[in-house]
Amino acid sequence: MSLKETKSPISKRMEGVSESATLKLNSTVQAMKEKGVNVVNLTAGEPDFNVPEEAKEAVLAALKANRSKYTPAAGIPELREAIAKKTNHQQEELAKESPWKSSNVVVTNGGKQAIFNSLMALLDPGDEVLIPSPYWLSYPEMVKINGGIPKFIAASAKQGFKIRPEQLKASLGPKVKVLILNSPSNPTGAVYSRDEFVALADVLTSTPGSENIWIISDEIYDRISFGKSQFCSFLSATPKLRDRVITVNGMSKSAAMTGWRIGWSVATDVITQALITIQGQSTSGINSLAQWASLAALGLPEAYFSDQVESFRRRRDLLLQNLKKGSKMELIVPEGAFYVFAGVGKYLRPGEESVAFAQRVLEEAQVAIVPGTPFGEPEFVRLSFATDERSIEEGCQRLNRYLT
Ligand code: PLP
Repeated sequence: MSLKETKSPISKRMEGVSESATLKLNSTVQAMKEKGVNVVNLTAGEPDFNVPEEAKEAVLAALKANRSKYTPAAGIPELREAIAKKTNHQQEELAKESPWKSSNVVVTNGGKQAIFNSLMALLDPGDEVLIPSPYWLSYPEMVKINGGIPKFIAASAKQGFKIRPEQLKASLGPKVKVLILNSPSNPTGAVYSRDEFVALADVLTSTPGSENIWIISDEIYDRISFGKSQFCSFLSATPKLRDRVITVNGMSKSAAMTGWRIGWSVATDVITQALITIQGQSTSGINSLAQWASLAALGLPEAYFSDQVESFRRRRDLLLQNLKKGSKMELIVPEGAFYVFAGVGKYLRPGEESVAFAQRVLEEAQVAIVPGTPFGEPEFVRLSFATDERSIEEGCQRLNRYLT
């Protein structure tokens, strides 16, 4: 058979699905470092802190106790219980009436898998998923893999990167099945206030036809907010939507446990049952030792988390101050997460967008930043401040020198 006649082995479902740009970029930076190039890396999507000692000790104890067999598909009961408790704490009003039970929790391979499985459980081919833009770059790709159609709601820098209720209302339609919310946001650091969530929820309860729309609330950065609007869980603002919301969270960002791959979903019984079925037929239960470690980390005192937030706040301020000194980037102060999403329109050459811009910054200034294009904003870049203060200062100096 000639090459021309060979059919692609790849499924139609994968057509138009992109590789994760951030994971790809990280490997490029890693490869440059291995070759001895002195790159300042401002791409990190993970805290640089060490995993808490309590989590390390819990792993050793679990190992010694031979807790290394398969776990139930939905996770070990102790961890599910602790997650239900944490979620009830963050959704106090709701918890007074009908608290989450451990049976509403599914422990997953990171928050990423919880979102993926939720979309798989909810979407039929052709269903639309509303995604405020800029967005975490995996959302649209996950939607496409699961047969859905991503539909974006533009949340520009001018409106603080947050969608307004009238925009949500205008985006609703008979094919819309899911809305994805993410606060604090990656890549923008925007945090929705309680009132802003209440206004969005009003649209989702009062618009005819909206009663069949599900909301996935990605709260993975819940522990990292430092602005006027402190983190508010979506269901804390709007408990009446309890049966239509899947709350997603995990250990990656709050306890610096990215490699341990522990996330979860909290949702009503019907959806949880579907999620357990998906999990049971795909990955089975998550790594047992990581679950015991997560249980220990969930029990950490508040001081552990507030110290981290303080450190992120200092680094955010350092990054902003240094960039303001020398560059004309459009800077919007993030209120949470650990990224500054900066406008670089002034620096783009004719026909250039952020991917090529980030590439030349990497090659010519040896600073790694993430282009905004895969997040839905071709004239922006994402700079992470989840790194040490020296790297932040050095990175800014190089950028300022290059961008004059
Ligand atoms: N949601 C957002 C907005 C993220 O930025 C990330 C990771 O970068 C995730 C979810 C998934 O995190 P994990 O799978 O490590 O729990």
